[in-house]
Amino acid sequence: MTTTATGVRGGSWLTEDVDPQTVFTPERLSEEHRLIAQTANEFIEGEVQPAIERLEQKDWALARKLVRRCGELGLLGADVPEALGGVGLDKVSAVIVGEAMGRSASFATTFGAQTGLAITPLLCFGTDEQQQKYLPGLVSGEMVGAYALSESASGSDALGARTRATPQTDGSYLLTGEKMWITNGGFADLFIVFAKVDGEHFTAFLVERSFPGVSTGKEEHKMGLHGSSTTPLILQEARVPAANVLGDIGKGHKVAFNVLNYGRFKLAAMCSGGARLAIAEAARYASDRRQFGQPLTTFGAIRHKLAEMAIRQYAVESMLYRTAGLIDSMLQCSHESSLVLASLEEFAIEASILKVAGSEMIDFVLDENVQIHGGNGFVRDYPAERHYRDARVNRIFEGTNEINRLLIPGMLAKRAVKGTLPIIAAARQLQDELLTPGFAETLADRPLEAERRTVAAMKKTALMVLGTAMQTYGANLGDQQEVLITTADIVTDVYAAESVVLRALGDGAGGSDRSVHAAAAQTFVNDAAGRVEIAARSALAGMVEGDTLRTMLAALRRIMKVTPVNTVALRRTVADAIAARKGYPFA
Ligand SMILES: Cc1cc2nc3c(=O)[nH]c(=O)nc-3n(C[C@H](O)[C@H](O)[C@H](O)COP(=O)(O)OP(=O)(O)OC[C@H]3O[C@@H](n4cnc5c(N)ncnc54)[C@H](O)[C@@H]3O)c2cc1C
Repeated sequence: MTTTATGVRGGSWLTEDVDPQTVFTPERLSEEHRLIAQTANEFIEGEVQPAIERLEQKDWALARKLVRRCGELGLLGADVPEALGGVGLDKVSAVIVGEAMGRSASFATTFGAQTGLAITPLLCFGTDEQQQKYLPGLVSGEMVGAYALSESASGSDALGARTRATPQTDGSYLLTGEKMWITNGGFADLFIVFAKVDGEHFTAFLVERSFPGVSTGKEEHKMGLHGSSTTPLILQEARVPAANVLGDIGKGHKVAFNVLNYGRFKLAAMCSGGARLAIAEAARYASDRRQFGQPLTTFGAIRHKLAEMAIRQYAVESMLYRTAGLIDSMLQCSHESSLVLASLEEFAIEASILKVAGSEMIDFVLDENVQIHGGNGFVRDYPAERHYRDARVNRIFEGTNEINRLLIPGMLAKRAVKGTLPIIAAARQLQDELLTPGFAETLADRPLEAERRTVAAMKKTALMVLGTAMQTYGANLGDQQEVLITTADIVTDVYAAESVVLRALGDGAGGSDRSVHAAAAQTFVNDAAGRVEIAARSALAGMVEGDTLRTMLAALRRIMKVTPVNTVALRRTVADAIAARKGYPFA
């Protein structure tokens, strides 16, 4: 069984109990973390938000200037080693910066392409010469980067790319093809381009805009993110020197997919920051706006919405910081590229979970933000309308949510078969347990005890569904997309529910806030348990039938015997905290 440097493995939470003291939460941020948050938030509020109209008019000179300012403030290189011009901080710092950027979605996209999609592949796969040549410029913001994977006929099916790289006698390559939807396309200096050598070997190349044969097309007319450049990249026998092959020939998939793992994780940070901002907007509007002689915040229907927005954000934020802490504990402050790469692979399941959960959470929050604003939410005078349009693409790029959902159980099953996660043994043990007459959980008198037991029950349910799927379909599991997608939702709810409970139990969630943390955790777990039970029933009924199905459903009923809590009262506790702070009540 492979373990990471500190013994923490991606996905291991599905089969193991986790001690709250080992989990990183936003309440545990250091002084250094808080300072970087302050710098990033001041930059966004002071320099980016006032510039949004000009960015939406496609003032790319201004976009470049803002990227440069990010470099000066150390935000582009937060987690880049100092030797390469970065600040050498941890992944928690990268989350903090991502959250701040998420408060201005168009610029966040520009920033995300620069850091996640251009700097990361160079850090993980660049030779010393390539790193020395390109990283200082990218990290200082003097150079703008972009990532060119998608084509008109190959988006999700990225390896189906048609762009061709033809080797020349002098060792260089001629690249021909057209890439689509390239973020920063209008003003990037450097493109990470994926092409097939001899039409066969998928490979990454570092392509400068100034190389002969490189040009970009017109800006796309998008639903949102009008302040972010998106263009095609046209390569007409573009000559790329041999020294600009990134990674190995034929190993472009390694570059492409690992970069996306990190991009997904950072995208979730941006969703988290954007959601927090929108919750504050909704809370302020609801407290200022009066109908029937009263502020909107006095109406239960609106209080329910505000509480639910905050609770869903609490879940994503809890998973996000927990995952950042896991990656940091694996890296142990190292920036060594092979270890960084290993950490991206190790926590790929969590990255996909975060991408799906973060992008769907923010769409929910922004939809409710529009609703709380009423007619004002539908007009451009208020930011709610722009946020709503800007966020929709989060479910599409960095791998669509369907593709990411398919990856989650797919990766778990692969690790189970390889033996790196003890899923098969845990599923077998569960089967034996369920056949034992009088099987019952022992009860202890601990805080959030009922929720801990519910999370344990949800884990068992996830194992039952995943184990049954693996047993039923074996190597053909990949063809059963409906089952995989349902399993992904169950697994996501398990990670989220456990993360909120561990956070609410943590030392940081103390003082007068403890009851609000507990209320959010209890509500989330209660609702997640309901979702998991329904999803498990339909997944099992799709896989087995007759007596086997009846036995499994009986076992499921026994496992998921969860007493509902009073979520009306709990949401009121959260809503009161939102009203008191006129904003997101945690962190
Ligand atoms: C604003 C914006 C910025 C972007 N920036 C970049 C960038 O910087 N660099 C870059 O390379 N790309 C970028 N993209 C492209 C983006 O990554 C793709 O749009 C995305 O990967 C989806 O590909 P597609 O659009 O071809 O959709 P398709 O792959 O055609 O998918 C259409 C639908 O079918 C589903 N689907 C596809 N295959 C399967 C399958 N096997 N099983 C089940 N369902 C499936 C999808 O989930 C989706 O719902 C950007 C896109 C946008 C809109």
